[in-house]
Amino acid sequence: MIKPMVRYRDVRKSFGNVDVLKGINLDIAPGEKVALIGPSGSGKTTLIRMLMTLEKPTSGMIEVDGIPLWHMEVNGRLVPANEKHLRKVRKNIGMVFQHFNLFPHMTVLKNCTTAPIHVLGLSKKEAEERAVEMLEKVGLGDKLDIYPSQLSGGQKQRVAIARALVMRPKVMLFDEATSALDPELVGEVLEVIREIANEGKMTMILVTHEMDFARDVADRIIFLDNGRIAEEGPPEQVLERSNSKRLKKFLSRFRAG
Ligand code: ADP
Ligand code: MG
Repeated sequence: MIKPMVRYRDVRKSFGNVDVLKGINLDIAPGEKVALIGPSGSGKTTLIRMLMTLEKPTSGMIEVDGIPLWHMEVNGRLVPANEKHLRKVRKNIGMVFQHFNLFPHMTVLKNCTTAPIHVLGLSKKEAEERAVEMLEKVGLGDKLDIYPSQLSGGQKQRVAIARALVMRPKVMLFDEATSALDPELVGEVLEVIREIANEGKMTMILVTHEMDFARDVADRIIFLDNGRIAEEGPPEQVLERSNSKRLKKFLSRFRAG
């Protein structure tokens, strides 16, 4: 692989004496779309929260675009990252959460301009230009002055996607972005994510239970089971040709009928 955009090396994570991730090794190429599937509690959220710098690995290394996330180099030695380093590397990552996490007291536009102004240092005008462009892209160009409580779940999640994109991250993380939505609102959000994916450039990790979507959008599917990467490969291979009993059992829950 050319220089990976995301690299996990022997990454472990424990909460107390519970080993949640048991040695993750993973390289993701620039522009690659990876769907992360697996049973509840298998460690999917923890895996991507470490990349978002919301959760610190117990051991191992994570790199984004060649730069260690949780470590920094001082006099040629790697030492634990300080807050300044984390602030800098965090700019490269965007995340969309299951429960939107919009700021309820801010308009749609303000939700999308706060971070670019305060974190990236853009002027209000620049931030608003970017925000309007992204809100138009997710089909919400007419909702700039509305508050989140006035939006449907699907619209809220599209705002959350626009808000992440405004930061122009190198990597976008989606943690079950449609799981909290009423069924009739799932499609509009998947459509927006699909569009971003089809543009090609963005490196994406998508935790999802939408198997048809994963098959369409992902270059690679990773099956996480009990804190380990149990299976990985192109969608058809993982979804149809795997011999893993545990994977087959997991997938059988998603078959129609
Ligand atoms: P998934 O997203 O695949 O459902 P998670 O990464 O959320 O899995 O959780 C994996 C395991 O780690 C679960 O057993 C969960 O209870 C545990 N866990 C996650 N976050 C914490 C935390 N902050 N403190 C303690 N245990 C946690
Ligand atoms: Mg989860």
